Amino acid sequence: MKALYAGSFDPITNGHLDIIKQAASIFEIVAIVVASNPKKAATGMFSLEERQQLIVQACIEAGLDKNTTRGKSHTVCVCPDRLIVDFAQQIEANILIRGLRAVSDFDTEFQMVQFNRKIKPGMNTVFFMPDERYFYLSSSAVREIYNMGGNISEFVPKCVDGTLRNRKL
Ligand code: ADP
Repeated sequence: MKALYAGSFDPITNGHLDIIKQAASIFEIVAIVVASNPKKAATGMFSLEERQQLIVQACIEAGLDKNTTRGKSHTVCVCPDRLIVDFAQQIEANILIRGLRAVSDFDTEFQMVQFNRKIKPGMNTVFFMPDERYFYLSSSAVREIYNMGGNISEFVPKCVDGTLRNRKL
């Protein structure tokens, strides 16, 4: 079965990676889709293409490249400006993956499931909860810490930390 995991991934965090690992242990193909979110665009850290490359690198670093999980493969792509459910249908994915952190995620996620069901009957959403270390981790917190000169290395994959360190040089 093919599943789609969409997000801003700006940048990919260890929390996202935890969800990808869990999904890859269940679904044959997990398409990781970088979607531009107009609400978050103004505070962007990486371009859509950079985010995509960092996800590929992070998955390799985590040993999630081809044939290492139950999943036959994962793919990473950028979503064109359209609804995720339409894009999912185009790439023949019928499961949407979402991560559930603290209870605060629940309300928005619940609404999104209802909307997506209305727009595209048959499209199901599967939620994964991250390890407790990542319950309060978000890309926006990482951006904030980084912008204030803090150390983000324990929150993000090595490639993200390395890329940002090189930027400072
Ligand atoms: P963020 O909210 O960090 O900006 P995204 O918009 O990229 O992240 O979120 C994409 C999906 O990943 C959402 O379902 C979100 O709940 C989930 N997610 C984000 N951070 C985490 C985390 N630390 N643990 C589990 N799921 C997460």
